[in-house]
Amino acid sequence: MPQSEADVSAALRKVFGFREFRPNQEQIVRAILEKRDVFAVMPTGGGKSLCYQLPAVLMAGTCMVISPLISLMKDQVDGARANGIRAAFLNSSLLPDERDRVTQELLANSLDLIYVAPERFVLDHFRQMLGRVKISMAVIDEAHCISEWGHDFRPDYLSLSDLVTLFPDLPVAAFTATATHLVQQDILDKLALRTPLVVRASFDRPNLFYDVRFKEHADIQLVSLIKKNAGKAGIIYRTSRKSVDETAAMLKARGFRALPYHAGLSDDDRQRHQEAFIRDEVEVIVATIAFGMGIDKSNVRFVIHADLPKSIENYYQETGRAGRDGETAQCTLLFAQGDISKLRFFIDGMTDDTERKRAFAALSKVISFASTSVCRRRSLLDYFGEHYPLENCSSCDICLGTREAVDCTRDAQMLLSAIVRTEERFGAMHIVDIVLGSRNRKIRDFGHDRLKTYGVGKGRSKQYWRQLVDELLAQKAIAKSEGLYPTLFLLPKGVQILKQEESIAMVRVADHIEDHIVDKRREKESYGRAEAPAEGCDQQLFELLRILRKQIAQEQGIPPYVVFSDRSLHDMASIVPRSAETMLSVSGVGETKLERYGRRFLRLIDRYCSDHPERAA
Ligand code: ADP
Ligand code: ZN
Repeated sequence: MPQSEADVSAALRKVFGFREFRPNQEQIVRAILEKRDVFAVMPTGGGKSLCYQLPAVLMAGTCMVISPLISLMKDQVDGARANGIRAAFLNSSLLPDERDRVTQELLANSLDLIYVAPERFVLDHFRQMLGRVKISMAVIDEAHCISEWGHDFRPDYLSLSDLVTLFPDLPVAAFTATATHLVQQDILDKLALRTPLVVRASFDRPNLFYDVRFKEHADIQLVSLIKKNAGKAGIIYRTSRKSVDETAAMLKARGFRALPYHAGLSDDDRQRHQEAFIRDEVEVIVATIAFGMGIDKSNVRFVIHADLPKSIENYYQETGRAGRDGETAQCTLLFAQGDISKLRFFIDGMTDDTERKRAFAALSKVISFASTSVCRRRSLLDYFGEHYPLENCSSCDICLGTREAVDCTRDAQMLLSAIVRTEERFGAMHIVDIVLGSRNRKIRDFGHDRLKTYGVGKGRSKQYWRQLVDELLAQKAIAKSEGLYPTLFLLPKGVQILKQEESIAMVRVADHIEDHIVDKRREKESYGRAEAPAEGCDQQLFELLRILRKQIAQEQGIPPYVVFSDRSLHDMASIVPRSAETMLSVSGVGETKLERYGRRFLRLIDRYCSDHPERAA
């Protein structure tokens, strides 16, 4: 039975407590309700779960979700249950009698949602049982795992190709947060989706603030950043286990609640540290990149990269773990030239030729991201082939102008001129060698020591010229040809710079550490706008609400953000609801949460208002 528009938005409010859909959610929900297949690439925090949980509530039968991350299933189920959705999971972590109970519920058709691991889906007895259950739809989470082209291929996922034959009349919806066009096509082919709705959401995360600082005294900088985010949850990424341990110990010694996380710890310790972080018992996790895959924590407020990430892809994924709830979060990269040579040395040691080349290429993109003065958001989106339409994102260090840019038009002209005079047939190294006046063989062989631009840039370091080439590439004044030996050529902007019709600026290399406004939200009409939070949040009330949230979470053995998101608490601390009805207008408060937790929060707010009559407007 098709659902009316009113039913859908009523369920959005009643079940989830949300007034509006996030971009693409409504379209996806509608398609599923019309029994159409769906394939959607949406960034972390984009709100993928709601896209199938909402139809799961509205459709008759059980929605089966196949997900590879066992550690996430419990979280997803806790989250769904907190909203009154009848959800359960089946995986190897369950005890036999728990498994029997879930199977009974499934057979009795009393579940809206069942999460299963792909290993289970291939089992004959599981499939036989499925034949006796009324299934409403099938969902594949982390769908990129089905593609061998992706970075996270899981052979068990190949069995999912039978889904459409197994459920010829039901919609199949596949979701992922990462898929290049190549991977996307591969997923569509492998799953054989039937004229699916294909959605590629913007990768922009409007609530994330990006900044890059020159790493001078990492420890001091880290301490200062954590102090600015006092009491908030954050992740610090470091490259080596040793530096993770040292940083965690340094923070502990200074009285911060911080724990390390890396592959050298025992499974038990890792599990314990992760739990403590999820449950808001420690604020800071210092981790190697191994951390974060299996967590859904929505209230991570800052992510600091204390070392250079290996690729933009990694950087995007790791920073993406901040601010899933849509509230502002800060992503800071500490960047030192010295880190580059360390990484280069490490990559040099790689034995596989292709791997080494790939690693170098990935690193050079990271360096360019960190060292140029192009809007960080624009650079990141550019990497994913997405054009960012705004001139100023007002949510990165570059756009806020906290870094000092110096005009370098004259130097840029030297490089551009060298490129033109050598007929756009050479790569960056050679062009820099010309400007520097190097005496190497290649220069002499081509007679480039007779060029007018030969040696005009002697006064500056090689590093400076390399940075300027990166800058010209990033600002799209020049581009690189494809192929093994890429050559540089001018784009229209480069021609204009050469003709003095355009100028170009670059940030100074030695930056001063300065702090700036993080909580700057964008205009409503801006691209991929952040959801506007309620105005005038009462910080003291917010802190009390947070304590209550943690207490309830502890009592019920669930993570605090499952009780209420940071967004919900902010709303409460701004709206200051005094009745159940007003409480329902808080984002994330649906009927079930109102019933379960509403009264305790209302009581706390009442008490607060009588203690602070001046604030209870
Ligand atoms: P993803 O799986 O895409 O990373 P989630 O499904 O975990 O994202 O959602 C991220 C957060 O956004 C959750 O806290 C969720 O409650 C919230 N959310 C989802 N949809 C909406 C919406 N329409 N309005 C407000 N918050 C939403
Ligand atoms: Zn910007």
